[in-house]
Amino acid sequence: MQHLAGTVRIGIDLGGTKIEALAIDAEGRELARRRIASPAHDYTLTIEAIRGLVDGIEAGLGVRARVGIGTPGAVSPASGLVKNANSTELNGQSIVADLAAALGREVRVANDADCFALSEASDGAGAGRHVVFGVILGTGVGGGLVVDGRLWVGPNAIAGEWGHNELPSRTEAGLPETRCYCGRCRCIETYLSGPGLAADHARLAAATPADVDARQIVALARAGDAQAKATLDRYCRRLASALATVINVVDPHAIVLGGGVSNIDRLYDQVPRLWGRFVFSDHVATTLVRARHGDSSGVRGAAWLWSAGERET
Ligand SMILES: [Zn+2]
Repeated sequence: MQHLAGTVRIGIDLGGTKIEALAIDAEGRELARRRIASPAHDYTLTIEAIRGLVDGIEAGLGVRARVGIGTPGAVSPASGLVKNANSTELNGQSIVADLAAALGREVRVANDADCFALSEASDGAGAGRHVVFGVILGTGVGGGLVVDGRLWVGPNAIAGEWGHNELPSRTEAGLPETRCYCGRCRCIETYLSGPGLAADHARLAAATPADVDARQIVALARAGDAQAKATLDRYCRRLASALATVINVVDPHAIVLGGGVSNIDRLYDQVPRLWGRFVFSDHVATTLVRARHGDSSGVRGAAWLWSAGERET
C-alpha cells in the first residue's frame, strides 16, 4: 500500500474495559480497526497491549503511522504524569514517555473527551463550525473544546472539564444533594451522567426498581409513565442550565453530545428551548447536535491528534 506511506494515522482509545485502535487515511477514511479487552489494572501490560495493536495494524497495512492516544484523565503539564483518570492505575504514570519508548516514535496523548470533541469538530456533527464544545454524557460527564479545528489546550490541560463544576442551583428549587467520587458535592456529573440520571429517577419514583437505567427511563416515558417523564424533564432543565454556563463563557457555535445519554431524542428539541432563559443574550444561535460518529469518536479523535499533513518519516 505504497500510496498510503506517510499519511496513515492510528488512534487508540484507552478505555477501562477495552482498548480500541483505528487507522485512518489522509481523508479520515477507516483503513483498519482492532479491539481488545483492557488488561485488568496493569499499566505495563496496557503499554504492551497498545504496542501490539499498533504493530498489528502497521504490519497489515505495510506502513508506519502517526499514533495518537485518547486516555481517561489528562497529562499534567506540571509533572508530565497522568492525573484525574478514573482508571486509577494510569494516575502518576509517565504515559507519553513510556509509549514513545515502546513505539519508537513521538506520540500524542489527550483526554478522551477532548478526542471526542476533536473527532466531531473535524469530520463529524461539528465540522465546519468555528468553536465546538463536545460533551460526553455517559458513565461520567466530560467535555472538550475545539477552535478552528484545533483542540484547545490550556495550562492545566483541563479545558472542558465542566462535569466537576457545581450544577447551578439557582435555576432549580430543592435541588437534591449529591456527592461525587471527586470529593465535591453537586457536581454536574452526578446529575447528568447515565448513573446520575438513574439515581435521580430512583430518588423520586418510589415504585421504580432501584436499578432502572437511562434507557429504561426513556422507554417508560414513551409508554406514558408520568414519573419517568418528570425525570427526563428535570434532566433536560439541568442540562440546559449547565450548558448555559458554558455558552456564557465560551459562546460556541455548536455543542455536540455523545455518550449513552446523548441517544435521548428529546434533548435536541427540549434543551435549546430551555437554555435561552439561562443564557445572557437576546437570542441563542448555538446549535445542539448529536454526535455523528457515535462510539467511534474517541478513537477517531485520537487519530486526529495528528493532522493529515504531518508525515511520519
Ligand atoms: Zn466531581
